[in-house]
Amino acid sequence: MPSLSASLNSKLPKVGPTIFTKMSALATHEKAINLSQGFPDFECAPQLIELVHEAMKSGLNQYAPMAGLPALREKIAEKTAFLYGGKYNPETEITITAGATQAIFTAIASTVNEGDEVIIFTPAYDCYEPAIELVGGKPVYVQLKDPNYKINWEEVKKVINQRTKMIIINSPHNPTGSILSKKDLAELEKLTMQSNMLVLSDEVYEHIVFDSEKHNSVAAFPNLAERSFIISSFGKTYHTTGWKVGYCLAPAELMKEFRKTHQYNVFSVNTPVQAAYAKFLDNRDAYLELSAFYQEKRDLFRKLVEGSNFTLKPAQGSYFQLLGYENISDEADVDFAIRLTKEFKVASIPVSVFYNKKVDHKVLRFCFAKQNSTLEEAAAILNKL
Ligand code: GLN
Repeated sequence: MPSLSASLNSKLPKVGPTIFTKMSALATHEKAINLSQGFPDFECAPQLIELVHEAMKSGLNQYAPMAGLPALREKIAEKTAFLYGGKYNPETEITITAGATQAIFTAIASTVNEGDEVIIFTPAYDCYEPAIELVGGKPVYVQLKDPNYKINWEEVKKVINQRTKMIIINSPHNPTGSILSKKDLAELEKLTMQSNMLVLSDEVYEHIVFDSEKHNSVAAFPNLAERSFIISSFGKTYHTTGWKVGYCLAPAELMKEFRKTHQYNVFSVNTPVQAAYAKFLDNRDAYLELSAFYQEKRDLFRKLVEGSNFTLKPAQGSYFQLLGYENISDEADVDFAIRLTKEFKVASIPVSVFYNKKVDHKVLRFCFAKQNSTLEEAAAILNKL
């Protein structure tokens, strides 16, 4: 009899549980402070919970329309126009998704064909590459350079060819905290217009940008927006990562394809949470004040570890801080992250896992979306190394 693995013929033979699953499980097992997986250790606004409760009590407990509750799509259209000047029709150009992860998967699955090339920048958030590979596409990697992790557009130009179907950008960037400037987006605009490729812009940290910088959304660049999927997540903005609701913006022609896939892999998303977000979006301050809220945490964490043997990398956005440990150990970053969790009880994410080939700059990612007391406790430990 043929073996099960032979008949399975895994579509993702190299893939195991993600680094986030591994490090969070290790942190729990070791009773370590968990600065690994990116999620807040504090609560969301009580009003938001009330709004979900009210929606449930008022009977909003059955399927939402496939594309999402119209009220929420309208509020997202308003927000996008208000912040970036981008005009999206809630009927045909906005879809509510089960988090950004599903939106990213659906955008790729609905447009990338067998043999198509998709450019991604490494270190890259972990869900892009497997999605491309599952649909028979080929990831093409361009490396961001330590310590600023900026894009070298000359290198991008060199990898573009007739098979290039899509380029994936992510600003603010996970895991490095770098952001794209207006100039970067202007470069991208030039390249996409010459090459005809699609853009997937992962903007889940759009409201977490520091030092008076502004988030440069693809929605503010009409020539780019007309060929782009823009993806965001309420989980990051409202401290509700476990509710798994996000959204995708795209011009009608792209969105039509997106919805063909979306309707068969999710159909529709959690109704009461959508209703709650639709009301909560009226409170502009909740997202406008998020950068200042997280900047305080970034500054606190940086100040606390400034005198340690770790080296601080720039952190312009997102809720991650990279720390180099080249003055502490020459262990591989995965080994060092595991030892830091087991022996010292602080969990982080080794950055090498976000590369396609072994690149180990001895850098760990720490999530500062935590109560100040958690950051203080963790920093006290890091200062002893
Ligand atoms: N985005 C989160 C992070 O970067 C993890 C989400 C997940 O576990 N997939 O830490």
